[in-house]
Amino acid sequence: MHVYNWGLIILFILGVSRTNAQTQKGYKIDTTQLYSTYCFLHQNPELSGNEIETSSLLKRELLELGFTIVDSLGLNSFAGVLKNGKGPTILYRTDMDALPILETTGVGFASSKTDNSTGKQLPIMHACGHDFHMTTWLGVAKTLVTNKKKWKGTIILLAQSSEETGQGAKGIVKASNFGKLPTADYQIAIHDTPDLMTGTFGFCDEYSMAAVDMMNITILGRGGHGAEPFKTIDPILLSANFIQEIQGIVSRNLAFNNPAVITVGAINGGTVGNIIPNSVELKLTIRTFSPENRAYILKRIEEIGNNLALAAGLSENELPDYKLLDMSIPPVYNNPALGELLQKSISNTSKSNSIVKVLPKMIGEDFGIYSNSNTIPSYLIWAGVKSPINTTENTSGSLHSSTFLPDYKSALPLTVEAITNCLIDLFIKN
Ligand SMILES: [Zn+2]
Ligand SMILES: [Zn+2]
Repeated sequence: MHVYNWGLIILFILGVSRTNAQTQKGYKIDTTQLYSTYCFLHQNPELSGNEIETSSLLKRELLELGFTIVDSLGLNSFAGVLKNGKGPTILYRTDMDALPILETTGVGFASSKTDNSTGKQLPIMHACGHDFHMTTWLGVAKTLVTNKKKWKGTIILLAQSSEETGQGAKGIVKASNFGKLPTADYQIAIHDTPDLMTGTFGFCDEYSMAAVDMMNITILGRGGHGAEPFKTIDPILLSANFIQEIQGIVSRNLAFNNPAVITVGAINGGTVGNIIPNSVELKLTIRTFSPENRAYILKRIEEIGNNLALAAGLSENELPDYKLLDMSIPPVYNNPALGELLQKSISNTSKSNSIVKVLPKMIGEDFGIYSNSNTIPSYLIWAGVKSPINTTENTSGSLHSSTFLPDYKSALPLTVEAITNCLIDLFIKN
């Protein structure tokens, strides 16, 4: 038989609950509302540039909370501004768009929406978690308003259209109304990730996400009979050589610690086996971190393409045609000093939160358009949404997959609390 020391047990319980009371910030967060907003947004996704219902829902919510709306920020983008006394100005951005993916999560609130605006019926799904970003953003808006006494300053909540197509942030900074927004002292954003457990926040200082360039190249040749290749200049062989050679830029021209990616994602040329075509179309993506690398790689691609064409016997008028698409976005640059402050705030929000350092990623995010100049300290935080338990509602596949589903029930309140605390700390530290 065990003899318990009840006094010690009571002291232990008191001690534990007191520690929790000190570390948890104790903002009242309405989880029922968070869940219903999340499920509604998840079930009603809209493609890039089409976020009409989504943006009006967000606007309505912010208006109700007392924000002033600054509209016409390009596409469906807008901002909500709330002035709460003298203090710093912080911009917090969410994206709003979904992807043309057929959802297969099997949850009751799965999307069955389609988009017919292009003449083709496309399925739509929030497969990048921008619904999670928006719900967190609204939750933070509400928590900031109900805790107005705890901070002073101006919050700009930026709702951005078309992140997935790289057009949203560009449209915002070009819009004349963007100049009407107060200048931010800090800029932050989150991105959810199933690579990290719920309650874990990922930080990557300096260049954290890559600059994205998309390029279409037409490799020219001189077509003819497939049985008489000696009478032709074969653009298919030329393309094959070119694809091999440009891989040498990363592996042989750049230093090992100077990361970049060149991917040829599409190659189209020819019709049948016995005809050598006149040209071949290639579609590439190029990922870099520094502007110097980017410029070097773009130059090298042309050098290689031109020299291979000349070596194959083509004239100066038959060099490849290189088209850099109007989709380029700069890398995301995370300010280390701001990162340190944010990490402290997140750790102080709850003892169960953990911070991890993550490696830079070669995927792109147009938040880089606001942060790249580095004149305004900016940070994009990774918010973990992978559930420790596997249930039907937690089948977290990878981002952009048909099975992606954040562990929203746990991750939403945790993330709302963490980001609110980050903002309040930034407001009162200055
Ligand atoms: Zn995405
Ligand atoms: Zn995304």
